Amino acid sequence: MSGIASSKNRIHTFLHCEICLAELKNAKTEEDFSLIGAVAGESPMSYSRFEVGWTNNGFQVWCTRHNQNIIHIDFDNTDELKKLEKQDKKNRL
Ligand SMILES: [Zn+2]
Repeated sequence: MSGIASSKNRIHTFLHCEICLAELKNAKTEEDFSLIGAVAGESPMSYSRFEVGWTNNGFQVWCTRHNQNIIHIDFDNTDELKKLEKQDKKNRL
């Protein structure tokens, strides 16, 4: 793709579905894990079931397991983008 700053993975903070995280966290026994379709010790990364795609004014990450919005970046609303960036920086301190 042209115009993209870098084709390397520059992700420093992962986005998670809160419900997926809670399910993994609450699963203690083999049975718990099998009920949610996970294996013991499974990482949030491999458990997540995300759909990522373009929308009319930006792009969206969607949890298909819970039909839940993870993030919807609206390119027309830069105020919202700056707020998200600020929040992320604060979370990393
Ligand atoms: Zn989820």
